[in-house]
Amino acid sequence: MKTDNRRGFLKKSILGISGFAMVPGIMKENIAVKALNKPSPELPVRLLGKTGIKTPLLSMGTSDATDSGFVRAAYEAGIKLFFSATYYGEGKNEKLVGEGLKGLPRDSFIIGTAVPPDGLDMRSGKFTNSFDAEAYIKKAEGSLKRFGLDYVDIFLFPFAGKRETVMNEGVMKALTQLKKQGKTRFLGIASHSDTEEALKAAADSGIYDIAMPAYNYKTTSRESMDASIAYAAKAGMGIVAMKSTAGAFRDKSGPPLNTNAAFKWILQNKNVASIVSGMSTLEQLQKNLTMIMNLKMTDQELKDLNLTGQLSETGLYCHQCKQCLPQCPGNLDIPTIMRSYMYAYGYKNIRQAWYTLADVQFSKQCENCNTCKVKCLAGFDIKKKINDISRLKNVPLDLIQI
Ligand code: SF4
Ligand code: SF4
Repeated sequence: MKTDNRRGFLKKSILGISGFAMVPGIMKENIAVKALNKPSPELPVRLLGKTGIKTPLLSMGTSDATDSGFVRAAYEAGIKLFFSATYYGEGKNEKLVGEGLKGLPRDSFIIGTAVPPDGLDMRSGKFTNSFDAEAYIKKAEGSLKRFGLDYVDIFLFPFAGKRETVMNEGVMKALTQLKKQGKTRFLGIASHSDTEEALKAAADSGIYDIAMPAYNYKTTSRESMDASIAYAAKAGMGIVAMKSTAGAFRDKSGPPLNTNAAFKWILQNKNVASIVSGMSTLEQLQKNLTMIMNLKMTDQELKDLNLTGQLSETGLYCHQCKQCLPQCPGNLDIPTIMRSYMYAYGYKNIRQAWYTLADVQFSKQCENCNTCKVKCLAGFDIKKKINDISRLKNVPLDLIQI
């Protein structure tokens, strides 16, 4: 296939995965700020644990933002907490956020960023090599440069799960050093899997101020998860819930979820200080801001969440329970692949889907299985989903707008 034809073919392939992927960034700063240029109402706040920060119930996950003007618009509208990560667009997202907040009084916004350590095996949640504190600190300092700041407010240790990882001596020393050096005000964990274990370990460690657990209406073993959140909150940790819409869509081609209902469900838990939402449009921002003004759930909203029928509804949300891992003879990192699938088809964030998939080792393992051996907790047709999302592996990064 000639180069042009091949690129055309790949472009179509991306569009097939997510119609939003190739839309160019159109939200320039002035447009975005003007669009919300009216006095924002006083937003309801909660205390972020022992940090003493009073945070609006809604925080911004910046991974979906493609324009610094949108970040600024969110700030102007009253958002105070912004969460980025070194792995969002290989640091480009941190730059974008820094540009959006440039020139504002430094104490008027809170920036958190997730800095993953090298050598953490996603499957086991443990380090494969010994933790390199020097390399980690350098990585964290790179974030400061990209934001254009002397310090961030929160360094998050992401993909935290296993107790031995959260309480790894080297990790805790490096994080504490960053805090002592004034490069961050607070420390936190973010956790997708083994979340209850991570919450308890972080609380017991005494060094973490904030926890960002995946928590939503699809959370299994709700009672023990709520107890773990309460345990961390009691130890003074500020809780910010992520993955709050559990994929945002009911299925790949199904109708969108009632996100108001999903957010309100989380905020019924008073131990949660704020939810982090990956917004990308002014409409979403306004809708979410309106939602936090009244948390009372209507009968229709409760019905829309279909709380009693959760187990029979597959949806897009992977619980990151890892029970698929020992079942797969191909040794595929299925939870990470399913997270990528959710980013693409649920959150319509093809960049994050691409980056998530980038580290996964594929070599057509599924072709060796006549039928998929995996019984998934969420009822996913794993082989079909892998076959679908693996197309993204062939797409060069420059075809995806950053
Ligand atoms: S079993 Fe299903 S829900 Fe659990 S991690 Fe694997 S893919 Fe996700
Ligand atoms: S078909 Fe299923 S069991 Fe086989 S390699 Fe793929 S995911 Fe694993």
